[in-house]
Amino acid sequence: MKKPAVLITGANRGIGLAIAEKFTRAGFPVLLGARDVALGRVEATRLRAEGFDVHALELDVADPASIVSAVADIERRESKLGVLINNAGILPDGALLTMPEADIAASFAVNVMGPLRLIRALTPGMAARAYGRIVNVSSGWGSFAQGLGPGAYGVTKAALNALTVRAAAELPKNVKCNAMCPGWVRTRMGGAGATLSPDVPAETAFWLGTLPDDGPTGGFYRDRKPVAW
Ligand code: NDP
Repeated sequence: MKKPAVLITGANRGIGLAIAEKFTRAGFPVLLGARDVALGRVEATRLRAEGFDVHALELDVADPASIVSAVADIERRESKLGVLINNAGILPDGALLTMPEADIAASFAVNVMGPLRLIRALTPGMAARAYGRIVNVSSGWGSFAQGLGPGAYGVTKAALNALTVRAAAELPKNVKCNAMCPGWVRTRMGGAGATLSPDVPAETAFWLGTLPDDGPTGGFYRDRKPVAW
C-alpha cells in the first residue's frame, strides 16, 4: 500500500529538517513546508538526488493566505496527505509582562494559530480518507507540571498542548492528534550547548506520526513516553 504523504512545517532546518529526513528515508512522500522556500528547495533537491520523493512547499504558518495556498497545493497533488507535523516555532526574548506586544502576537501566530489553522484545513481530508496523524511539536516549557517556560513562549506552548487535547476530542478516532516535547536540542533555537541532536526528537515525531490504529491520541510525549501536561 502506498504510504501517506507527510507535511512538516519549519522543515528547512533544525528539528523539522531532521523529522523530514526521517520520514523521507522511511519511504514516505514528504512535503518540506518552509517559509524560506529557497532553503527548503536546497534540502529537497539534496534528498531527491538520493532517489526520494520529497518536495519543498512555501508555507509561512503565521500568514493565513500562505496556509490557504499551501493547502490548495497539497490537495492538487497525487499523494494524499496523512501526516501533519506542526513543528515551526519561535522563541522571542523577554518577559511576558514587558516584552513588545508585537512579539507576543507573533508567538501566538506561529506557535498556536498556525498549527490550529493547518489542523482545521487538513483534517477534513484526513477524516474522509479515514487516516490522519497529527504531531504538535510543543515543549516542556508549555507544561504546567514543569512550571511553564519564560515569556510568551511558555504560554503559547501551553495553548498548543490545550489545543492538542481539544482537537483529539473533536476528531474521529482514526485521526490522531498528539503533542511532544523534543528535549533540549542543538538547533538555532536550542543553541550549540544543547544536549541532544535533532535526530533524537525526530524518532519520537516519527513514532507519533506512524502510530497504529489502536495507538494513543490526545497525549503528550517525550522520548516515546507520556509526560505530564
Ligand atoms: P529553529 O529555530 O532551529 O527552527 C525553527 C523552524 O521554524 C525554522 O525552520 C523556521 O523557519 C521555522 N519557522 C519560524 N517561523 C515560521 C513561520 N512563520 N512559518 C514557517 N516556518 C517558520 O528551532 P528548532 O528546530 O529547535 O525548533 C523546532 C520546534 O521544536 C519548535 O516548535 C520549538 O519550539 C520546539 N522546541 C525546540 C527545543 C530545542 O531545544 N531546540 C526545545 C523544545 C521545543 P525560518 O528558517 O524561515 O526561520
